[in-house]
Amino acid sequence: MTRSALLLLLTSLLCASPAAAQAAAASSNESDLAISARARAIQASAIIVDTHADTPQRFLDEGFDIGSTDPNDIGHISLDKARRGNLGAEFFSIWVDPETNQGHFARHTFDLIDSVYEQAARHPDRMMMSFSVADIERAHKEHKLAALMGIEGGHSIENDIHLLRDYYRLGVRYMTLSWSNTNEWADSSGDIDDPKVQHHNGLTDFGKQVVLEMNRLGMMVDISHVADKTFWDAIATTKAPVIASHSSARALTNAPRNMTDDMLRAVTKNGGVVQVNFFSAFVDEEFRKAMEAQAKDQSAAIQKHLDSLKAQGTPASYIEIDRIERQWMAKIPRPPLKSLIDHIDHVAKIAGVDHVGLGSDFDGVSGATPQGIDSAADLPKITQALLDRGYSADDIKKILGGNLLRVFGEVERVSREMQASDAKLVSAPK
Ligand SMILES: [Zn+2]
Repeated sequence: MTRSALLLLLTSLLCASPAAAQAAAASSNESDLAISARARAIQASAIIVDTHADTPQRFLDEGFDIGSTDPNDIGHISLDKARRGNLGAEFFSIWVDPETNQGHFARHTFDLIDSVYEQAARHPDRMMMSFSVADIERAHKEHKLAALMGIEGGHSIENDIHLLRDYYRLGVRYMTLSWSNTNEWADSSGDIDDPKVQHHNGLTDFGKQVVLEMNRLGMMVDISHVADKTFWDAIATTKAPVIASHSSARALTNAPRNMTDDMLRAVTKNGGVVQVNFFSAFVDEEFRKAMEAQAKDQSAAIQKHLDSLKAQGTPASYIEIDRIERQWMAKIPRPPLKSLIDHIDHVAKIAGVDHVGLGSDFDGVSGATPQGIDSAADLPKITQALLDRGYSADDIKKILGGNLLRVFGEVERVSREMQASDAKLVSAPK
């Protein structure tokens, strides 16, 4: 998630309320929540998996090195921060801005994929490209960060199933059917109310083929960002469990991109997992409303910047846009850590503790995370907060990564089965 995703939240108006500031003040001590020995032990014995970080844009546009130990770096992810938070596996998001990359989505997708491999090549002692559950487990044993990739937005395949297969071969293990933009085969929640956009009432026939091909390949079907009807079409089509790589609960925070309780129950039935997004505007209603209130002005500021670049013939830079977004976001008080934990707790209650996990959206939310969560190094605070709410060690380990590994394993199994039955059909005597 980044940029227009935030802007697309705009619909109504409400000012940042004093209540938000009070809530922030009341829980300021959460940011230095003491981590107990028990929480540390759970943290140390778990394989912790985060399914969404936008760091590849930093690799590519900023030349950021994941080995950086710069104490002033404002990023959420580095090898140091990952180790301090005992993060075992990160799914790096391959996100192509559909506005600034028109006509060359695939090209930019390949560049971002390359940027992840280049980082792994620079740090072979601490980071390992990973493509399976077995790889994640191996990386964990070797005390390396398992680096995986997920494509955020079906527009990356340029309506071409061959490209989808190429991405799989390059190691991409999930694809979000749409980002905030409706593409030519899947409706998005980001523009579903925009009459100028041509919608398809969910997934087109080609979109359903994409889902089935992902099942056959062993690429997880990610329903974050999609319109509600697209979600239901994906659930009806898929032969494997789905994931929401970075989505929170709509019952608590009314963002159209969050999931309703009915959707959460459908994911339970499907055997999938909802990885809760940490973004303040998705986990805290006060923050969301305050952001909505400033969305028009923020959008105008960014547009002004883009227009001036265009006039100079300079390409738009992710870093500059991120800087402007950060300035706006910093005007709103950070929500307490409790808001994020409430979402994890809600998904655990409605979908079940076997169907919830972590999808931080690190490095994709312009710094807007709840208090105390400043980087991957702060993940132990989530473990501590779940312990404080009475979760057992086993359940916490499921939330931290066990559930995602189960779903990933199941997606691998379905893929093997589909490929075996295809092979049988081909080799059957006439
Ligand atoms: Zn996103």
